[in-house]
Amino acid sequence: ADQSAKPALRLLLAGPRGFCAGVDRAIRVVEEALRRFGAPVYVRHEIVHNRTVVEALEAKGAIFVEELDEVPENAHVIFSAHGVPKSVPVEAQRRNLLYVDATCPLVSKVHREAERHFAGGGPEQRHILMIGHTGHPEVVGTMGQLPPGAVTLINDAEEARTVQPRDPKRLAFITQTTLSVDDTAEIVDILRKRFPHIEGPRREDICYATTNRQSALKEVAHECDLVIVFGAPNSSNSQRLREVAERSGARKAILLQKPADMDWSLLKGVKTLGITAGASAPEALVQEMIAELRQRYNLETEERISKEEHISFFLPPPLSRKDNKDA
Ligand code: SF4
Repeated sequence: ADQSAKPALRLLLAGPRGFCAGVDRAIRVVEEALRRFGAPVYVRHEIVHNRTVVEALEAKGAIFVEELDEVPENAHVIFSAHGVPKSVPVEAQRRNLLYVDATCPLVSKVHREAERHFAGGGPEQRHILMIGHTGHPEVVGTMGQLPPGAVTLINDAEEARTVQPRDPKRLAFITQTTLSVDDTAEIVDILRKRFPHIEGPRREDICYATTNRQSALKEVAHECDLVIVFGAPNSSNSQRLREVAERSGARKAILLQKPADMDWSLLKGVKTLGITAGASAPEALVQEMIAELRQRYNLETEERISKEEHISFFLPPPLSRKDNKDA
């Protein structure tokens, strides 16, 4: 094709982007379970918030369900990377289901933190404030580690300003792993000022992947007329990336599930386009988009990698046992 006939477009690719170690592991868990146990393998909740990933696993024999009562007795069931309330494995055992827990180790770490604050024993027991978003499966799972009433959810700065804990001297906070780093810093600040005795992590429990994707995007967003974030509307870390882009100076930022959904009129007048992807969005979507853009534009592409990531998690039991084919 005649390159000169196409309009010019500068493309900035933010890195790191896309899959985190927890999502990568959750997908390997489903694939390995299918290989060892054979289809069907049931998965409670979308294993990660991405249709492309879910459909690929369905094609291999995974069946996605919302609740355990949809899983037949003696079947294999996998719990998603977001984590589950304590009641779920208990129920699975009662129903004779064979379960594999694909909860991300960085989410499990927050679960253990919550238990530690709560069960310090007798007078040490602390009321826990969880910074997070109502209804997100990770929040449901983390709050479900403790009895009802033990954890109070703080959605935003306003709730941090008004919450009335049972005893301000016996208080701790934990956070969802996929929050906005900046908003959370503000909320933690409010809590620490109001309750100087509050216990908690040094900053928050936001994971390395969320942090790195947000800071990588900040470095490119201010140069962009438009930023495309590959990710699903129900993916918390993808939504936060969209906000980060707009707050960091991008003229506009959109969430896109797949290149086929793109409204190409949005590129009118755009000279610099930024692309990133949430922790649950496969890199293949980004590469497919680049190919689409090449058809339409004389593309000048630049990768801006702000940090290398070298984190990978082992599979959980029983899949971690290499010797035992049908553990
Ligand atoms: Fe784990 Fe972070 Fe990925 Fe969530 S976003 S699965 S906490 S690595």
